[in-house]
Amino acid sequence: MIIMKFGGTSVGKPERMKKIANLLLETPGKKIVVLSALSGTTNALVKIGDELVAGNSEAAENAIATLENHYLQFTEELFESEAYRAVGKEIVSRYFSLFRLLAAGNPESYQTDDRTYRELLAQGELISTELFYHHLQERKISARLLPALHFMSIDENQEPELEKISARLKPLIDSMQHLDILVTQGYICRNHLNEIDNLKRGGSDYTASLIGAAIRAEEIQIWTDIDGMHNNDPRIVKKTIPIAELTFDEASELAYFGAKILHPSTIVPAQKFSIPVRLKNTMDEKAPGTLISNKGSRGEIRAIAAKDGITSIRIKSSRMLLAYGFLRKVFDVFEKYRTSIDMITTSEIAVSVTIDDARQIGPIISELENLGVIETEKDMSIVCIVGNQMAEQPGLLDRVFSSLNDIPVQMVSYGGSPNNISILVKTADKNKTLEKLNEGLFHLS
Ligand code: ASP
Ligand code: MG
Repeated sequence: MIIMKFGGTSVGKPERMKKIANLLLETPGKKIVVLSALSGTTNALVKIGDELVAGNSEAAENAIATLENHYLQFTEELFESEAYRAVGKEIVSRYFSLFRLLAAGNPESYQTDDRTYRELLAQGELISTELFYHHLQERKISARLLPALHFMSIDENQEPELEKISARLKPLIDSMQHLDILVTQGYICRNHLNEIDNLKRGGSDYTASLIGAAIRAEEIQIWTDIDGMHNNDPRIVKKTIPIAELTFDEASELAYFGAKILHPSTIVPAQKFSIPVRLKNTMDEKAPGTLISNKGSRGEIRAIAAKDGITSIRIKSSRMLLAYGFLRKVFDVFEKYRTSIDMITTSEIAVSVTIDDARQIGPIISELENLGVIETEKDMSIVCIVGNQMAEQPGLLDRVFSSLNDIPVQMVSYGGSPNNISILVKTADKNKTLEKLNEGLFHLS
């Protein structure tokens, strides 16, 4: 069995949805198809939810009406026959009645961590899969809906419960042995209170790899609108090249450090059971894409990625000199406020760390002030160079630094893993940093 996940843009237009059905017909064997919401839908639902939280019920109603028109148009074009157009209308009207019902609730209940809000966010994937399923029905392609809310779950720390997912999923799939196509929702799940929840934005990729791991699939395919991972960010630098193969470790680093193509947690379940992950392009299905697996070439620089929204924090203290236990005290503060650290560098009298989630920065700083003098800087970016056995490549650091000779580098982390060199720059310098490294490391300009 293989898993085939299609993202928002791959289902975002009626003709693209039809194309997915063709792709399924051309792919032999059994497959579980994981779909995102149509592109723009989750953003629209977030906006509706936010308007409700802010008490702007009129703005919420307008946004619901705009979205409804979009779906009515979509179903008009998706279905061929009058009978199925009527089915389409019925589906849209059912979901939008629910939206209006959710919107009509007590405004105080729409806090961002509230159930109603999360229930609203979950509807995007429910409606896209239902529409797609009926499109298959209309074309007499036999398939079944596999409801994610019946098997996908997270625990009280919001971590997926892989074993439970597997135990629920296997009998479900066994009961559908006669079918080649099972369609399910990405992103959505139930939490430890059995409420509707989600795997965070972009989480459909994660759903695909969790299902793949749960049933020990042969392969997990992530279909997007570009031809796999590139050596650098194609939205920023002029010339990039697709990468044919990556190891799990390389792909994890790239996904975590900003390669937007993959949700950062996607690799973890796949790697655990050595299930290859293949990135493919819906717009160009013949393109080779990127294969992520245990194999992969050694001793090479593979790619560069950047992550924005980073804050750096420096703790300076002469008490650190010759002391032990100082770092623990620093880390305790971050642990207390559940804030994870990305980069860290130390000198004899100072520690610098970076975080990407600055929501708790106020209390973090006031506690760190007990340990020393604190300096912070926001609007920073981590630029991450990913490769293999980097320490064994003579002259590599020289090439990195000479490419960046006119860029003020704020922090460097090297040697933490054999796969990564991370550099902290001001976000204002990021594009130039990516261009310069593209020239210096890949001779692309
Ligand atoms: N629809 C969700 C989002 O937009 C999940 C996904 O597309 O992966 O974040
Ligand atoms: Mg995505």
